[in-house]
Amino acid sequence: MFPGADEYGVEVDVDADEVDRLLSVGPDDVEKPTSVSFSRNVFLPLTTACRYTCTYCTYYDVPGQATLMSLDEVRDVVRMGADAGCTEALFTFGDEPDDRYTEIHRQLDEWGYDDILDYLAAACEVALDEGLLPHSNPGDLTREQMADLAPLNASMGVMLETTADVDAHAGNRRKTPGQRLNTIRAAGEVGMPFTTGILVGIGESWRDRAESLLAIRDLHERYGHVQEVIVQNVVPNERSDFERPSIETMRRVVAMARAALPEEVSVQVPPNLSEAASLVDCGVDDLGGVSPVTDDYVNPDYAWPALQELVDIADEAGVSLHERLPVYERFLPSDLRYDADSGRVADDRRADGDWVRDRIADRIRAGDIHGQRFRDVARGDSPLTVPEN
Ligand code: SF4
Repeated sequence: MFPGADEYGVEVDVDADEVDRLLSVGPDDVEKPTSVSFSRNVFLPLTTACRYTCTYCTYYDVPGQATLMSLDEVRDVVRMGADAGCTEALFTFGDEPDDRYTEIHRQLDEWGYDDILDYLAAACEVALDEGLLPHSNPGDLTREQMADLAPLNASMGVMLETTADVDAHAGNRRKTPGQRLNTIRAAGEVGMPFTTGILVGIGESWRDRAESLLAIRDLHERYGHVQEVIVQNVVPNERSDFERPSIETMRRVVAMARAALPEEVSVQVPPNLSEAASLVDCGVDDLGGVSPVTDDYVNPDYAWPALQELVDIADEAGVSLHERLPVYERFLPSDLRYDADSGRVADDRRADGDWVRDRIADRIRAGDIHGQRFRDVARGDSPLTVPEN
């Protein structure tokens, strides 16, 4: 049983023989994909408050310094994103601020919200109104919290990181593998298309990596809800000096992920952190989100290098590149699935249309320019270029 799993009553079946099999897998044991996908998004750090202090993390700010985006700020960013052809509003932040963040709680209360998740729901409404599909990564959630947010999200996510008890999560306030597994299970129970992943290089062993991937597979086999697994390497930063895993290590971990997971689950590496072109032949078939809406958005010379980099990665790896929605097509209702002949069919353990809630499906079906953009992307008709302003 993994640390913390008892507390949450999470039972995960990881077969010892399967672990041994994965430990012998290398890049030559997996197939290179024929294409890689990406999503065009805007990044919205709704708050930088987090109850934890993971040693590799530069995202969180301490109490007194943590920020909270106003809904007007959210609206400005999602409008820019929709204008720039994005489909995804990526709301990412750490676990719910604890009692130390008095300022954040006071501000939320003044704005009329019970807590950060109540506020996230309002921010998702703004994104939908302005023409983007929310994908929220708000840290760990209970089943009830996940169910509350499900109608407003096309997909959601949380990184498992590892099933091991590592010093990187040490301290008085520490998240546990059991807590993360409980969140992934909660997503499955409410039928939420889900993104998770492992973090490589935070003190885990090769066996821990194999067990982490098999734990994700076990939960996916129960619920059919995992759409992609990110294989992310740690990077040194101002708060830590973790050594970046070598390319040989990453090639082996990616191959291990590809061998561990069912074909319908994509393996993603973040191209800003990894040498993605050198990992595609190990089974990478997704490059995650790319955002044209950055601090350099107003400068056309710098607005789109990220997208061009994805084109270059695909060219170098010898595969095609296509854009996808934040929710993978097999989770869409049948009237919105345009490549039904591709073999990547929906998991029929849930009735057709049950994955994506009405509010999201209706947003994609809408007759406005945003609905048209979503359907173009779902159909594979989106240009790999910058829309004219
Ligand atoms: S839970 Fe996430 S946001 Fe919070 S400190 Fe850890 S990695 Fe950073």
